[in-house]
Amino acid sequence: MSVDLKNLEIETQLVQSLEEFEEGESRTVPLVQSTTFNYTNPDTLAELFDLKKLGYFYSRLSNPTVAAFENKMAILEKGVGALAFASGQAAITAAILTICKAGDHIVAVSTLYGGTITLLASTLKNYGIETTFLNPEASEEEFKAAFRENTKILYGETLGNPEMNTLDFEKIVKVAKEKDVPTIVDNTLASPYLCNPISYGVNIVVHSATKYIDGQGSVLGGVIVDGGNYNWDNGKFPMLVEPDASYHNMSYYKTFGNLAYIIKARANILRDMGAALSPFNAFILLRGLETLHLRMERHSENALALATALEKNPNITWVKYSKLPSHYSYKNAEKYLTKGGSGVILVGVKGGREGAEKFIKGLEWIRAVVHVGDSRTCVLHPASTTHRQLSEEDLIKCGVLPEAVRINVGIENINDIIADIEQALAKI
Ligand SMILES: *Cc1c(COP(=O)(O)O)cnc(C)c1O
Repeated sequence: MSVDLKNLEIETQLVQSLEEFEEGESRTVPLVQSTTFNYTNPDTLAELFDLKKLGYFYSRLSNPTVAAFENKMAILEKGVGALAFASGQAAITAAILTICKAGDHIVAVSTLYGGTITLLASTLKNYGIETTFLNPEASEEEFKAAFRENTKILYGETLGNPEMNTLDFEKIVKVAKEKDVPTIVDNTLASPYLCNPISYGVNIVVHSATKYIDGQGSVLGGVIVDGGNYNWDNGKFPMLVEPDASYHNMSYYKTFGNLAYIIKARANILRDMGAALSPFNAFILLRGLETLHLRMERHSENALALATALEKNPNITWVKYSKLPSHYSYKNAEKYLTKGGSGVILVGVKGGREGAEKFIKGLEWIRAVVHVGDSRTCVLHPASTTHRQLSEEDLIKCGVLPEAVRINVGIENINDIIADIEQALAKI
């Protein structure tokens, strides 16, 4: 092949795969549904185990179908490498554990996905990793003041779930650079089509592939993409630079340079914790990616039309959508989400919790589903579902009020979507 997929536009990257092929080979990436791989020479296997050679031997560590998904994600997100996981939460956990241990500290914005908040505020805290949460609108000085000697990560989401606030990349990256700490950004709700955080200086991107990447509501998956743009040899990350006793005293940094992070994530965290993506799910996710650009365009167009209509609805008290001028982070959305604001809207229904419940019950064909990023429009009441484990105070901190309903705007006909929502609102 004479053309590098990296040099083509994202719409082409999503649809095409330019891997080497033999004459008459399968056009789609084949599903290699196998845990293990054939060898005759034990020396070859030994080299694979030593990471001296790349190849497949056991699907917890790598598999050809999963690798095709990883390679595509690395290209789409402009990274140097990617690593897939069984779910978004598994990817986020591994992204953190690759560079954090007991005694370390994280600075994070407070408007995060509910599962990530409980991971940081509770689960990881119990293992000795502490997080300080800051309002994403806090000033550069306030962010800097939250850093400690042992801070190892600055964490945010491109689009906060469910507030749909757009991250101020310039501010976050500037603070992280001054503090010499890597940034990890969850890009799930924007998808690689609407935003590439690495191109704004972010170091590591994570995704729940379960959402827009799949887009069909059929499989769980997650992925880490390494920007390869952080200098790990600064004294703060000995686990990447010093010899790893669990890997023949190899230094990831000295052996793999700017691939150190993503290789350690695989050779150490994925190997030991085992939340590998199944080849079948990778196969489905590759199918999903082929239409990502078309879907994201329609999701964004429908969501903006619905959000605009709902702002005028008397039974809606407020509307939060990334691309509405009334959103507090609208200027970030205009700067970083030029192709569209994605498909999620958060609205306040008149009548509080009761009004929200009545609205959901009154829908004709739109269903209550615990999901976003699906082609099918659905609604969710975060206070009683995804953010149920949070206290009232924490709910308010991450923007989840009792009257809030999250609408995942699908790719159906926009008039049908607006009509069903408006008739349900008229009934409350
Ligand atoms: C859904 C979601 C996750 C978690 O992903 P799973 O695949 O459900 O584990 C993480 N971050 C965001 C922004 C999400 O929307």
